[in-house]
Amino acid sequence: MEKRTFLKTGFFLGLAAAGSSFLQACSTAVKNNPPPPLPPPSKRRSGPFTLPALGYETAALEPHIDKLTMEIHHGKHHNAYVTNLNDAVKDTIYADYELNDIIARISTSDADKKIRNNAGGHWNHSFFWQSIAPGGSGIPSGNLATAIDQSFGSYDKFKEQFTNAAKSVFGSGWAWLSVGADKKLFISTTPNQDNPLMLQVVKQTGTPVLGLDVWEHAYYLKYQNKRPDYITAYYNLINWKVAAERFEKAIM
Ligand code: MN
Repeated sequence: MEKRTFLKTGFFLGLAAAGSSFLQACSTAVKNNPPPPLPPPSKRRSGPFTLPALGYETAALEPHIDKLTMEIHHGKHHNAYVTNLNDAVKDTIYADYELNDIIARISTSDADKKIRNNAGGHWNHSFFWQSIAPGGSGIPSGNLATAIDQSFGSYDKFKEQFTNAAKSVFGSGWAWLSVGADKKLFISTTPNQDNPLMLQVVKQTGTPVLGLDVWEHAYYLKYQNKRPDYITAYYNLINWKVAAERFEKAIM
């Protein structure tokens, strides 16, 4: 037996002696994100995934996000995630699963990688298009506004923290405002196309209320290397009405 394994074994034997409740606590900590049970066949998906409509014109977010970026981002990038996802789930256990079920169950294994990236890409972009709207919708109101004040101090302090999080993403990824299991808001970031609903993948899981795509493809044509300017522009587009609805559903 290698020394390391021996030490590990010794450690756990010691724990066993210390009492089973502690051991139980350890195993709960490790398995705190169990995948949800398999949905019944009636709830499974029939037919391929499809690209959802934006819900507004590609030019409608100008001047904050330009028409050409939206055309390419939605029509090419998002569409590619959809196409690749349909391809990736073929002949796998995910073949007939709804997107949310795939997201919740997907693992960090190499075998799941293509599905993880493309299911994430499809989910995240579908969510993102609805998180923004032409002209935005002002500032948060109601219970969401109260929760933002409670968690971050004020709306301006939330903006500061969210901006810093979005700036801090190295390479491609996302910034999120989510509701945790404790029903409280938190800010997090994910690399690539991961998101807080991926129970097997991310450390901090929750139900997203807002998401910001900070991949270069989301801003490079207009902002080039100036990601902070793109983040600033995002606040002019946030659909707080949709965010408030998501928040209410998450705290139910
Ligand atoms: Mn994107």
